[in-house]
Amino acid sequence: MNTKYIFVTGGVVSSLGKGIISASIGKLLQARGYKVTIQKFDPYINIDPGTLNPYEHGECYVTEDGMETDLDLGHYERFTGICTTRNNSITTGRIYKTVIDRERRGDYLGKTIQVVPHITDEIKRRMLRSPLPTSPKGEETYSPNHPPLGGQEGGLDFVITEVGGTIGDIESAPFMEAIRQLRWQLGRDAVCVHLTYVPYLKAADELKTKPTQHSVKELQGMGIQPDILVLRTERHLDDALRLKVAGFCNVDLECVVQSEDMPSIYEVPVNMQRQGLDAAILRKIGIPVGETPAMKPWRDFLEKQRNAKREVSIALVGKYDLQDAYKSIRESLNLAGIYNDVKAKIHFINSEEVTTENVASRLEGMAGVVICPGFGQRGIEGKIIAAEHTRIHDIPTFGICLGMQMMVIEFARNVLGYKDANSSEMDSETPHNVIDMMEEQKSITQMGGTMRLGAYECELKEGSKALQAYESEKLKVKSEKLIVSERHRHRYEFNNKYQEEYEKAGMRCVGINPDANLVEIVEIPSLKWYIGTQFHPEYTSTVLHPHPLFMSFIKACLNS
Ligand code: GLN
Repeated sequence: MNTKYIFVTGGVVSSLGKGIISASIGKLLQARGYKVTIQKFDPYINIDPGTLNPYEHGECYVTEDGMETDLDLGHYERFTGICTTRNNSITTGRIYKTVIDRERRGDYLGKTIQVVPHITDEIKRRMLRSPLPTSPKGEETYSPNHPPLGGQEGGLDFVITEVGGTIGDIESAPFMEAIRQLRWQLGRDAVCVHLTYVPYLKAADELKTKPTQHSVKELQGMGIQPDILVLRTERHLDDALRLKVAGFCNVDLECVVQSEDMPSIYEVPVNMQRQGLDAAILRKIGIPVGETPAMKPWRDFLEKQRNAKREVSIALVGKYDLQDAYKSIRESLNLAGIYNDVKAKIHFINSEEVTTENVASRLEGMAGVVICPGFGQRGIEGKIIAAEHTRIHDIPTFGICLGMQMMVIEFARNVLGYKDANSSEMDSETPHNVIDMMEEQKSITQMGGTMRLGAYECELKEGSKALQAYESEKLKVKSEKLIVSERHRHRYEFNNKYQEEYEKAGMRCVGINPDANLVEIVEIPSLKWYIGTQFHPEYTSTVLHPHPLFMSFIKACLNS
């Protein structure tokens, strides 16, 4: 079967959950045995979201190959278990950069470079995941107006492309034009799914379809007729309303699907399956629909989720008071909770407000504490105070990236006796730089994409709690070493000069990168669960495979 393309756009308002719908479509097609990938196109000019403030855009998610991406890629991976790459996260900035770099190289042979066709061609190429045409000047086979069709990876049955933003935004117009052209080029091999909002007006006691009609009209004005409409709604939509939408928007009734608010985002795929969203897509493309997959593991998970009533309180000590800023950590805690038959009740504790005086009351009743990742000075003293409190009171504690670094600094200050210990990120002059910049990073002055990013190996030490936590499936034996691979996003690291002192005083370095000898995991073995990881385990926790460290952390919280 040649590759099929599904485009997911959104109308009326943003934040409708296009990412969840895209991930659900991926999941449903995967359940039917198809090989799927999901990619996100964002219309902003940043090259990647790595330099974006989490307050504006939520968490920055990191792929295995070290791309800093939009948090929707986290949904794609958690739902489907696929491994996304830098090809799955594209911005207007990257599109323009490619075109401008090629223009400077002379690839366009003196042509005037324009939004149409040059930018739209580059968008189309990336939507199709075709290789960049190598362009020896004047070579006849090179034709920028006709990028080759067919996914470059080969063997992909479906490529799902989610376009960020809302229909009508000026900045997403080139993406819409690219989709219009591709639909024409691909014929039945392309399907457009449009997500809109049906508001409920309380005063009139009515659900309103007009915004949807306008949104579809806007799409049609750009030459795109949606095949399938997904209506987001807080109230159930009856058949009469769906029929009305179908009639006004030139869409079959069976292709008007509703996405009601669900108690959990993980209910969305089965809700979509119940309404036949995947079947409608297959019919549009002309593929026999066949039997509806049982999705047993997924349904078993949902059953567990529904039954997990007992709550376990976990504190997230961080500086970003915004749900999405620690999205993957929250989801990893939720998932690990469900698999331990409990509901993880997450309490955000603003580290800027934590003091030695109030730490006990702020953390009262918490079964466990996560010390969050981050950058810069703001809020770090509160993280250090929290790490001290949980160490002294033996409360299970999980430090992630900057969180791990704060555990290390706290230990230096209060156990090793280096009162001025710090990270050179916060104080470049500190005489006790227990966290220091990596050698390779010292000459770099640019901000974007310059960190230690993506997956690196970590060797686990025998007898450690960390090793105990890792399941056999994630753990590989390589030349007699016990190795896991985890994703990173940092510039600073544990300063190996101090390793011996830490070990003697009771904090062990139990995970080491075998190639660069960098410390990846620290723990205090005498405590119930006090582990810090330089890497981000939250990026690889999925619905069907929760991360073993989160699993073991929640277990420890339940036993303490
Ligand atoms: N700011 C720290 C560093 O760059 C930690 C980064 C993080 O928490 N992602 O090393």
